[in-house]
Amino acid sequence: MGHSVPPLNDPSLLKSQTYVNGEWIGAKSGKTFEVTDPATGAVIGKVPEMNRADTEAAIAAAAAALPSFRKLTGRERARMLRKWYQLMIDNADDIAKLITWENGKPFADAKGEVTYAANFFEWFSEEAPRVYGSTIPASVAGNRVYTIKEPVGVCGLITPWNFPAAMITRKIGPALAAGCTVVAKSPGETPLTASALAELAHRAGIPKGVVNFVTALSNTAEVGETITSSKTVKKVSFTGSTGVGKLLMKQSSDTLKKLSFELGGNAPFIVFDDADLEIAVAGAITSKFRSSGQTCVCANRIFVQSGIYDEFAEKFTEKVKSFKVGGGYGDGVTHGPLIHERAVSKVESHVQDAINQGGKVLIGGQKMPDVGSNFFQPTVIRDMTSDMRLASEETFGPVAGLFKFENEADVVKLANSADVGLAGYFFSKDIQRCYRVAEALEVGMVGVNTGLISDPAAPFGGVKESGFGREGSMLGVEEYMITKMVTLGGM
Ligand code: NAD
Repeated sequence: MGHSVPPLNDPSLLKSQTYVNGEWIGAKSGKTFEVTDPATGAVIGKVPEMNRADTEAAIAAAAAALPSFRKLTGRERARMLRKWYQLMIDNADDIAKLITWENGKPFADAKGEVTYAANFFEWFSEEAPRVYGSTIPASVAGNRVYTIKEPVGVCGLITPWNFPAAMITRKIGPALAAGCTVVAKSPGETPLTASALAELAHRAGIPKGVVNFVTALSNTAEVGETITSSKTVKKVSFTGSTGVGKLLMKQSSDTLKKLSFELGGNAPFIVFDDADLEIAVAGAITSKFRSSGQTCVCANRIFVQSGIYDEFAEKFTEKVKSFKVGGGYGDGVTHGPLIHERAVSKVESHVQDAINQGGKVLIGGQKMPDVGSNFFQPTVIRDMTSDMRLASEETFGPVAGLFKFENEADVVKLANSADVGLAGYFFSKDIQRCYRVAEALEVGMVGVNTGLISDPAAPFGGVKESGFGREGSMLGVEEYMITKMVTLGGM
């Protein structure tokens, strides 16, 4: 079925142990868990099932490494990040194979992710030497006031499986640039990519204890609790669902940690009838179906103005017909599996709910048992209404629901009715509307006449229940620093 991924060029990037304190180790309990290929269900590796004691050891290693690492100059840390970046680029094929293997996304997409992920190291290697404090004119005569930026300390990083490399580099890059040391919990579904990155960190000469990973699947909650309740960990950065984010925030409250949360979205994607239809269709295809709809910024509710609704639906469906679904390494495959059967069930229930309430399936709508148990047909449903589950819940799968709207005020209201606000998109050729709607949408990121907004140079993050904090950009390092103020009196 074209499911299998060829072996790595450098087999030493495939790890069965976890990287802590500069060494490859197993779990203290000796336990392991299996990593499976979502396209076939085949077991592709076994990694340590770590617990509280393992996590505490990783935190201790990060704490021990902190004093000397934070004393390095920004330039010295920049050189390490730059080396790590180069090693990712040099090994891009192998890392992409691991991503396709354990996440399922098509190899070309996985290659794209590796470049995107490595770019965070490059970007933050450039930011590391440029962390400036300020001098402040004092209000009290004779005083001198200035600020210095200091690393916040040991950071706990928790990331999801949907971008097995990029979600990790987007956190470790700025953390190391700031002079922090880290304990990163690898995603349970995709620990192999994380471990390959750790191997490259080692080769890049990152000092021992600066970057530590913890692998866990059934012990995930225990590891999370250990990180969030630790007095040594000063900051937690989490990317994942809103539900888990709320739990981690509660758990972090006893030690009042600095937090950054990148949580779920339910992106509105609005096509006004003055839009360039071809561009809007292409943008919707990318935004909706990239990674089979498993991106936090993917279009979830597609609102199309009544004047062009039918034409949009027809052209959009036509494009979906050309998709080829299969194992990520298969010839010409454009779309891979979902991560697991739970994800397939959620997608199926959203589709069924829409059909029950009058939605009309234009293409797809079914599971694909002939291809594999984690596959779902790319699906387009028209005549969607706001009572349907897809309108209020993140589907996280390859289902495009088309909603019809009449005017700008209505659609902005509908778009803003979600509890979350991560990304939002709209398409229009009217420049005044472009400014107006970009300002009116309650989201952290807006794509105007484009469906692709991710860029290491641009601040990534949400509002409302999509969380807080910004990753990437000149703001990214700030999340890992504290501002210390110094007042000199009697000058
Ligand atoms: P999830 O919240 O279940 O898991 C995310 C990560 O948290 C995983 O590594 C998981 O192992 C870990 N985790 C789960 N429970 C935990 C606990 N109790 N303590 C500590 N760690 C725990 O999310 P998911 O289903 O794996 O990922 C999809 C979700 O992530 C979607 O909602 C998506 O929108 C969101 N996401 C957001 C962004 C963003 O930048 N805002 C990016 C990617 C994904």
